[in-house]
Amino acid sequence: MTRLVIVSNRVPAPAKEGAASAGGLAVALKAALEERGGIWMGWSGKSSENDEPGPLALTEEGKITFALTDLTGKDVEEYYYGFANRVLWPICHYRLDLAEYGRKEMAGYFRVNRFFAHRLAPLLRPDDVVWVHDYHLIPLAAELRQMGFKNRIGFFLHIPWPPADVLYTMPVHEEIMHGLAAYDLVGFQTDHDLENFAGCLRREDMGDAIGDGRFTANDKVFKGGAYGISIETAAFAEFAKKAGSHHLVQRARQSIKGRDLIIGVDRLDYSKGITQRLDAFERFVVNNPAHQRNVTYLQITPKSRSEVPEYEQMQRTVAEQAGRVNGALGTVDWVPIRYINRSVSRPVLAGLYRLAKVGLVTPLRDGMNLVAKEYVAAQDPEDPGVLVLSRFAGAARELKRGALLVNPYDIEGTANALARALNMPLEERRERWQRMMDYLLEYDVSRWCNDFLKDLVD
Ligand code: UDP
Repeated sequence: MTRLVIVSNRVPAPAKEGAASAGGLAVALKAALEERGGIWMGWSGKSSENDEPGPLALTEEGKITFALTDLTGKDVEEYYYGFANRVLWPICHYRLDLAEYGRKEMAGYFRVNRFFAHRLAPLLRPDDVVWVHDYHLIPLAAELRQMGFKNRIGFFLHIPWPPADVLYTMPVHEEIMHGLAAYDLVGFQTDHDLENFAGCLRREDMGDAIGDGRFTANDKVFKGGAYGISIETAAFAEFAKKAGSHHLVQRARQSIKGRDLIIGVDRLDYSKGITQRLDAFERFVVNNPAHQRNVTYLQITPKSRSEVPEYEQMQRTVAEQAGRVNGALGTVDWVPIRYINRSVSRPVLAGLYRLAKVGLVTPLRDGMNLVAKEYVAAQDPEDPGVLVLSRFAGAARELKRGALLVNPYDIEGTANALARALNMPLEERRERWQRMMDYLLEYDVSRWCNDFLKDLVD
């Protein structure tokens, strides 16, 4: 079996903690590396004081070598905060109004990708299979090809891919498209993303889909496919069953005093639709006096990317909005929204999901959304809760037969779905949950990883 080389912007720490506390993605990729032997390369998360970052830091763990590089402060500013998070992230989430173009940032993005390629080169053997992850590293294969590498190289995009009219507002769209076409296999989360990609190829006569998951561009043929990322379903379910005894989960249970719990869990990000969701919850309470005082909405929202101005602004907006709704609707003995601006550990999260009657997952646009899948996996099969899910999350393509799908821009519609979820009879809840759970057990994160690698290697 050939060696596997994974490259991603950030690399999980060599495992000290158990599978339950590491994310499913890290667990699945480490398992693939352990099976084949290989390297996981990426940014250390640190910026070097000097202009020239020191050598790669190599750590061995079983059959895996972790290879971490520092970046310069300028690199981090331009490649990471500048282009990746202020251009590619908003564009891929259809927010062209938020993209901030700067020549320096664009140049920095391509420069750091070249730097990654040069750092990786001495480690690569001719028959290694390389798997590159996510929007930070799109040009990496093109850089490696230029250096003469003929390895099998695949790419998986964890976020959505936009339609041509959105992508082509970005000045360097051509380089980005050529960057993708340099891979042997390009994987997206959903068939919609894949269709958008094909549309982008066609729009400027760069190439086209030629059937059977194949595409042409730059006078070569490469493969493209949809591979929805997932979670370790069985392990997470098991884990949620035990999480009820965690003291924080017990405290949460006692404090809601038998009220119905609605849970939302999202990084603080404009793609997650948090303000629309708070509006929908407020509308639901106003429209449904019978539920007033009998419901608690817990929104767990760890801060993210606070260095980017839009995120800092959003932090204020959401906090103010939660305060306003609580002020308007709350009573001396009832606080409608509990808003937590910190990260919660996965064991506690699993227990809280299981406690909640409704998982409210309403991103305006999301590549997949693992919270939706975790919420389903965590439910008690005898008395499962209901998933209210945005149709614009990748997960909706897979869970549409069980979740209540909503349009997150439609506040009244989402409020109605909340009422329907809380009033849903047990039998319907069980049926819907079972359909989702059957799917998630079959298509878990190991399946995702194996399907991608099989298509890359074949
Ligand atoms: N998460 C967590 N603690 C928190 C909030 C989130 O561990 O306080 C985890 C959550 O369990 C999920 C991941 O972060 O596995 C979020 O993934 P998702 O695909 O939903 O969104 P992303 O943040 O990747 O956009």
